[in-house]
Amino acid sequence: MNCTEAKPLLHAYLDGELGLESALEIERHLEQCADCARERAALASLSVALGDPALRFGAPEALRRRVGAPVAGEAAGGATAPGGGGGLSQALPDGRLRVRRSRCSPS
Ligand SMILES: [Zn+2]
Repeated sequence: MNCTEAKPLLHAYLDGELGLESALEIERHLEQCADCARERAALASLSVALGDPALRFGAPEALRRRVGAPVAGEAAGGATAPGGGGGLSQALPDGRLRVRRSRCSPS
């Protein structure tokens, strides 16, 4: 394996997505090639940096409630009874889903 073959496979190698044979070929190449080994180290440190919990964005509590409440209401029951228990799937008499769409629109 040469650099031209190895470099496109480095991401997959680091993610453990290569088969055993390809992974071994890459490892053999990395032992001999300082350039590709450097690239692997750079990709690995980027992967670690992107896993930093400080980069995760948690949804604000108000948004969580707004998104979660209708789903929880549907799961609580009444969703399958036509015109019954409310929730997202409460159908209008003519069968359209206007109620559902208006609930999902941003306010
Ligand atoms: Zn190389």
